[in-house]
Amino acid sequence: MDRITDILRNNLKDVEGRIASACARAGRNRSEVTLVAVTKYVGAATARQLFALGVTNLGESRPQELWKKAAAIPEATWHLVGHLQRNKLERTLPLVSLIHSVDSIRLLEALEAQDRPCQVLLEFNLSGEVNKTGLPARESDAIARRFGVLRNVRVEGLMTMAALDSTPEQARETFAALRDLRQRFREFLNNPAALPNLSMGMTNDYEVAIAEGATHLRIGSALFRGLEGLGP
Ligand SMILES: *Cc1c(COP(=O)(O)O)cnc(C)c1O
Repeated sequence: MDRITDILRNNLKDVEGRIASACARAGRNRSEVTLVAVTKYVGAATARQLFALGVTNLGESRPQELWKKAAAIPEATWHLVGHLQRNKLERTLPLVSLIHSVDSIRLLEALEAQDRPCQVLLEFNLSGEVNKTGLPARESDAIARRFGVLRNVRVEGLMTMAALDSTPEQARETFAALRDLRQRFREFLNNPAALPNLSMGMTNDYEVAIAEGATHLRIGSALFRGLEGLGP
């Protein structure tokens, strides 16, 4: 058997086991949670091997990498999880099913102006780190006010990242804050079903993210560990 596939299969088994346990503890169904494998640490060939093991949702943080890998694995469902520069919209939109990282009102408006339907999440910076992307929570009402005029963009939920080096308990507070923010949107919009998706949880904190209601986990390192020095 191929060595890389063996390692990927073991990593995936571990991650899936932890996801299943965390779902069980939280009284949630596994089907409520989508695993998005963030492939930025590996090349397209390795990403394809993970896809072949059944991980059909793949994500990239950089648009150019996404273009490359989406061309190599067009059958996958692609997610952009990192910052999108406005000059890269046109080329990126046809390739992605969900943009997790709308981090400014200008980007939201540029997406709307593309005359092409797209599904997005709004990325909020709730951890207080100054050098991190994401909207500040105080902009939530200003954004919610624009929802009524969006024709092309469908805002499907919210995304956040815990602070670097945070403990699971600190991450939990950030994730709970994202859920609270979603509640604020729902009240503002007078729609208890708005923004169904919460993208939160990475290698170090995906189990607490499940406990706090994550619908999309963005996991990289845990899936690709042990591959150093192997393959292209
Ligand atoms: C790299 C990255 C991830 C995955 O991080 P890991 O800690 O390796 O699981 C998730 N989300 C974003 C936005 C990333 O850039």
